[in-house]
Amino acid sequence: MTCERQESLAGNDAEKAGESGYLTIDLSAIGRNYEILSTALASTPAAAVVKADAYGLGAERVAQALYGSGCRNFFVAHFKEAETLRPALAADAKLFVLNGLQPGNERACADSGIIPVINSLEQLRRWSFLAITLQRKLPAILQFDTGMARLGIPPQDRRAIAEELAATDSLDVLFVMSHLASADDVDSTQNANQLLEMRKISSEFPQFGISFANSGGVFLGPDYHGDLARTGIALYGGAPTAGRANPMQPVVRLDVAVIQTRTIPAGTLVGYGGSHVTAGEMRLATIAAGYADGLPRSLSNRGAVFYQGVRLPIVGRVSMDSITVDATALPEGTLRLGSLVEVIGPNQTLEAVAEAAGTISYEILTSLGHRYRRQYL
Ligand SMILES: *Cc1c(COP(=O)(O)O)cnc(C)c1O
Repeated sequence: MTCERQESLAGNDAEKAGESGYLTIDLSAIGRNYEILSTALASTPAAAVVKADAYGLGAERVAQALYGSGCRNFFVAHFKEAETLRPALAADAKLFVLNGLQPGNERACADSGIIPVINSLEQLRRWSFLAITLQRKLPAILQFDTGMARLGIPPQDRRAIAEELAATDSLDVLFVMSHLASADDVDSTQNANQLLEMRKISSEFPQFGISFANSGGVFLGPDYHGDLARTGIALYGGAPTAGRANPMQPVVRLDVAVIQTRTIPAGTLVGYGGSHVTAGEMRLATIAAGYADGLPRSLSNRGAVFYQGVRLPIVGRVSMDSITVDATALPEGTLRLGSLVEVIGPNQTLEAVAEAAGTISYEILTSLGHRYRRQYL
């Protein structure tokens, strides 16, 4: 990242404001990741998945930046997210709701120009009924379940869907869509099985485009690309494929302030439950972020933070608002009140933090919370 490394909060606005760390979000890196995905996709456009506040990074800022990069299709999970984001985007940006229509929500959806992903026959009938009432065609994506059993129209309802569409001619279906369950695993046979089913669906609804690939799907090859990819994690710098070098640029950097330092003798119990007992004298630093700030409790006695490239292991349990690290590897007096340690950055990728915590980058990103000062580059 091009971000100028801040060594300390001292004298900064953030310190004066009483804030305890910086979450730096590189919007230009998101733009570059959009380019990388667009290149991999060749002629297929990439839509941006900006659900959950753009994976915690700020849906409005992220979506506007991506619009500037040429992105015109945006997906959120909930109608409420779409309603909030809609005014921030130009009229030619399309906004889709992955979780589908809630009963009674159809009119609000139509009025706001938000496009539902239809996940069931019931939703299709309600949407089409409204279209007939309004005497205008309403846009939709039809999602089919191709083997994930999460959302989407099940195989046995496809015939009824086709009949309903033909009988009413009330909907403007933009894509048939499905979601891959194992796209990050290039060796999973689930990918090819889902592709086969998607092709079958496409042959039953040949008049519509296909939306199939997520970030991982982009790197499964052109068979998976369809006519609109829905990319999320890769835009935000997460690895699209497990076990392979990450082709994406880092987007997030997290620096957290030291709030206390101390030197303790051998045999000292550190943190809740005394889960770490010092073997020898140790220099400790307590930093101002905990599980309420998205650093999972599973990082207790695992994982680390960095200071000037030096690894400082987490000792004891992660608390709600703080973490204690072993700073013995640094010369005495190096860390002081207000020094900033790196939690995510050049020395420790998002993926590394996720792995240490026993989770995935998606969960780390979406948990980071709002107690850091956010700065956008
Ligand atoms: C979240 C989501 C995506 C984006 O997935 P990434 O792996 O983050 O690229 C795409 N499609 C659907 C249906 C989703 O729920």
